[in-house]
Amino acid sequence: MTMAARVGLVVVSHSRALAEAVARLAMAVGQGPLPIAFAGGVGDAHDALGTDATDILDAMLRVDSAAGVLVLADLGGALLAAETALELAEGQLAGPARLVAAPLVEGAVAAAVQIGLGADLDTVAREALGALAPKQAQLAGCDAAAPPSPAAPSAAVQQVTDGAEPPGIRERFRIDIDHGLHLRPAAALVATIGRFGATAWLRRADAPGAWGDARSLNAIATLGIDRGDVIEMTADGADAPALLAAVRALVARGFGEAGRTPAADAAGGPAATPPGDLPAASAGTGAILTGMPAAPGLAVGTLAVLAAASVLVDAGDPPVRSAPLAEAEVEAALEPVRAALGRVGARLREQSRAARARARGDAAGIAEAQAAVLADPALETGVRALLRDRVCDAVTAFRLVAARLAAGYRALADAYQRARAADVEDAAGQVLALLARAPEPAPGTLAALPAGAILVVDKLTTSQALALDPARVAGVASARGSRDAHAAIIVRGLGLPMVTGLALPAGGSRLDGVAAVLDGDAGTLEPAPGPARLAAARARLAEAARAAAALRERPRQPGVLADGSPLPVQASVASAADARAAAAGGAQGIGLLRTELALLDAEQVPDEDAQVARLAPILAAFPETGADDRPPRLRLFDIGGDKPLRALALPVEANPFLGLRGVRLLADPAFHALRDTQLRALLRAGAGRRIGIMIPMVATAAEIDAIRAALAGAHADLARAGVAHAWPLQLGIMVETPAAALAAPQLAARCDYFSLGTNDLTQYVMAAERGNAAVTGLADGLHPAVLRAVALTCDAARAAGIPVGVCGELGADPLAIPLLIGLGVGELSVHPAAVPVVKARLAGLYPAACRALAERALGCTDAAAVRALVLAMDGRTD
Ligand code: PEP
Ligand code: MG
Repeated sequence: MTMAARVGLVVVSHSRALAEAVARLAMAVGQGPLPIAFAGGVGDAHDALGTDATDILDAMLRVDSAAGVLVLADLGGALLAAETALELAEGQLAGPARLVAAPLVEGAVAAAVQIGLGADLDTVAREALGALAPKQAQLAGCDAAAPPSPAAPSAAVQQVTDGAEPPGIRERFRIDIDHGLHLRPAAALVATIGRFGATAWLRRADAPGAWGDARSLNAIATLGIDRGDVIEMTADGADAPALLAAVRALVARGFGEAGRTPAADAAGGPAATPPGDLPAASAGTGAILTGMPAAPGLAVGTLAVLAAASVLVDAGDPPVRSAPLAEAEVEAALEPVRAALGRVGARLREQSRAARARARGDAAGIAEAQAAVLADPALETGVRALLRDRVCDAVTAFRLVAARLAAGYRALADAYQRARAADVEDAAGQVLALLARAPEPAPGTLAALPAGAILVVDKLTTSQALALDPARVAGVASARGSRDAHAAIIVRGLGLPMVTGLALPAGGSRLDGVAAVLDGDAGTLEPAPGPARLAAARARLAEAARAAAALRERPRQPGVLADGSPLPVQASVASAADARAAAAGGAQGIGLLRTELALLDAEQVPDEDAQVARLAPILAAFPETGADDRPPRLRLFDIGGDKPLRALALPVEANPFLGLRGVRLLADPAFHALRDTQLRALLRAGAGRRIGIMIPMVATAAEIDAIRAALAGAHADLARAGVAHAWPLQLGIMVETPAAALAAPQLAARCDYFSLGTNDLTQYVMAAERGNAAVTGLADGLHPAVLRAVALTCDAARAAGIPVGVCGELGADPLAIPLLIGLGVGELSVHPAAVPVVKARLAGLYPAACRALAERALGCTDAAAVRALVLAMDGRTD
C-alpha cells in the first residue's frame, strides 16, 4: 500500500458481541475497510461477560501503525483492563496509544469517520470525545435529567468563534432529505469534503451562529439540520471550487439516501448550480452502495448498464412520434420480436411434449400455458401499435406490452388467475433473453461494452457470465444474486471483482456512463468518486498487480503445509483458456472440469467428435509427466438447476435444484444418448493418459453403479471399433448432496475418490438456494452443519483409503481452508486465479493446529462463531 498509515481504533466492551457490533457500525459509517479491531468477553469462546488486558493488547497490535491507536472502552472493569493494556503496550507499538473517555458507540463512529479521512490521532480522539454533543443538542429539553446546557456543543468540537469569519468562497445549500443531515448523510458530506485539500466550514444559514469545521461529523450533527433547512458553507484553498461543486452534486443527489427529493436545489446562495448542470461523471447516486462481496478484487472503470433482458418494467409510454412510422418499417422492426416469439413458443411446446412423455402433466401444463401466452395476438398487436406511434425500439415495446399484460393478470380477483402473471413474466423473459443475444447487439448488451466497463446488471445469468470478456469488463455489480451462484463462480474464475445485493437506483440506468470504483473485497460500489478516491483506488490496483506478479513469479512449488506435508492445489476449469491460465498459475492438475458450462448457450449439443475436439486442448494444458500426476477429473454433464442447456428440451420444474439435475438427468432414458456420447468422448479424449471421471449430484449407490455399467459399455463399443481410448480409469463422485455425505461409507466402497462439491453441499444442507440473495446469509459453508457433512465424508474416505478433495468454492476461502484441512481434506481444486493465493495460505498452516481448530469448529453454534474462531487463530478481527 502506498497509502499513509491511518490511526487504528480498538473498541472494548464487556460483551464481545457488543464490541463487534460497534466496530462493524463504525466500519460501515466510516466507509471502511479501516484499521478497526475489537476486544471483549472472557473465557475460551469469549462468550462470558468481561474484559481481558492481553486480549485488548492483541487488538491494539493488530491495528497498530506509526499513526497511533485510539482505545474506546465501555465501563468499569473495561477501563481498568484497557489502562493495563496500554501499560503492557509500552515499547511494543509503532506509534502512540491513547484511551479516552468518549461514549462508546458515538465515539467509535465519529472516530471512524476521521480515520477514514486520514486524520491524526489528536483529531480522531477529539472527535470521539465530542461525539455526545450532537445527541445532547438534539435531545435538549426532552429529558429533565439532561445536562445543564445541552445545546452547547462540546468544547471538543472545533469551531470558529462568533465574529471570526472564515475566509474563502461561500455557497448555501437547502437540505431536502428525510430526517435532515442525520448520521449517514453527514458522514457522506464529511467523506466528500475529505477528498479535497481546502479547509471548509459550515453553519446554519437561517440562524447564523458559530461556524463549525465541515470535516467534523460532530460539528455537522450538532447543527441539527432538518429537512428544508439551509446550510451555508465556506471553502478556502486551491481546490475550494471543486469541493463546493462536489458538495453541490451530493446535495442534488439527495446524499444517495432513499426517501430523498432529487430536486434538492441550492438555496439562493451565490454560484448555485442547477442540478441539470452537474458534470456528467456525477450523474450517479453519489453514495457508496454497499452489497455483498461475490468475487474479490478492485475495479476502476465506467459503469455500463446491461438492459435487464428478463425484467418487465412498465416505464410508461414512450414519447409520441411526430409522424407515425411507415407500415414497412414497423414490420421490419417487429420481425426479430416475431421470430423470438416463434422460437420460444416452439421450445415451450417441445418441453411440454417431453414432460408429457414422462407423465409429468403439471410441468407439461405450465409449458403449454406459457406457449399460449406467447401465441396471444394481442402481444404482437400491442408492439406494432407502439412501434408505429411512439419513439421506441421493438424490445422496449415488447417489454412494455408484456409488463402491462402481466400487470393485468396481477390485478385479477381470482388467486389462480393472478398467479398467471408469473407465467407471462417467465415466458416474456425468455423472449427478451433471446432478443438480448441478437446478432446486432444494441448498446448496453454484453458484446457492445466499452473496454474497462464495470457491468451493472439486475442479476447476472450463468450464460452472461460465460460471455464476459475480461479484456473488456473490469468488474460486475448486480442487484440480485449470491456468491455461490454459478455466475459468481465464473466471474471469480476470470479474476474479476463482483459485488451483488446492491440497491441500484431505479434499476441502475442512471448509472450508465458514470465513472466508479467497485470493491469486491469490501462489497461496495462507489459511483462518481472524487479525484483523490480515484487516485487511491488506482494506487491499490497497481499494488495488487505487483503482488499478483510476485506470486506468479514464485517457483512453481507444489502446495505444501507449514510442516512440509504435501497438499496438492488443482484447478477447477470450464474451458481451454481456463486450463491454460491454471497451468500458467502453477495448478497441479485439473481437479474439476465443468463440461457443461461451455455448452449452456449452444444451439445443439456437440457430437462425439466435436466433444473430443473441445476436450483435447483442455487436457493438453496438463500433459502427463509421471505416475505422481493426478489424473484430470472430468465431470459428467451437470445439467439442470441454474444450468439449463438451451439445446435441450428440459422439463419445467417447480424446484429445479431438487429435480432432474446432474446424474439424475443422465439416468433418464430420454438422455441416455447424451450420456453415452459424452462417455465415449471422454474416454477417447483421454487416450494415452490416465483420466478420472466424476459423477455430479450423486445421492445413491445405484447411480454410481449405473454410470459404471454405462462406462463399461462405452469401453466395449470403442474397443470393438478399435478406437484408442483411456482404460481403465478412475471413477469418483462429487459429494454434494446430504445423502452422499451421510452414506459416504457405503459410497466410498464404489469410488476411487471423493470430491466435495461444497457449493451444492452447502445449499442442500442449509436448504438455502445458492443463487438466491434472500437466503445467502444462510448458505454459509462455514456453518457447523456443513462442516459436519465434510467431516463424515472425510472419515469415510480415510476408512476406505481413497483421496478426498474439495472442488467447491470453499476450497479457495482463506477462512475455510484450515478447517477443511483439519477435517481431513487432502487436496483442493480452486479457480485458476486463486491457485497461487491458496498455496500461500497453505504454507502458513500447521496440520495439528488445523485439526484442533476443526474440532472446536464442529462444536460451534453457528457460522459466525466458526468465523470468529478462525479469525482468532489468524490473529485478525475483520
Ligand atoms: C459444487 O457444487 O461445489 C461444485 C463444485 O459444482 P458446481 O458448482 O458446478 O455445482
Ligand atoms: Mg455442484
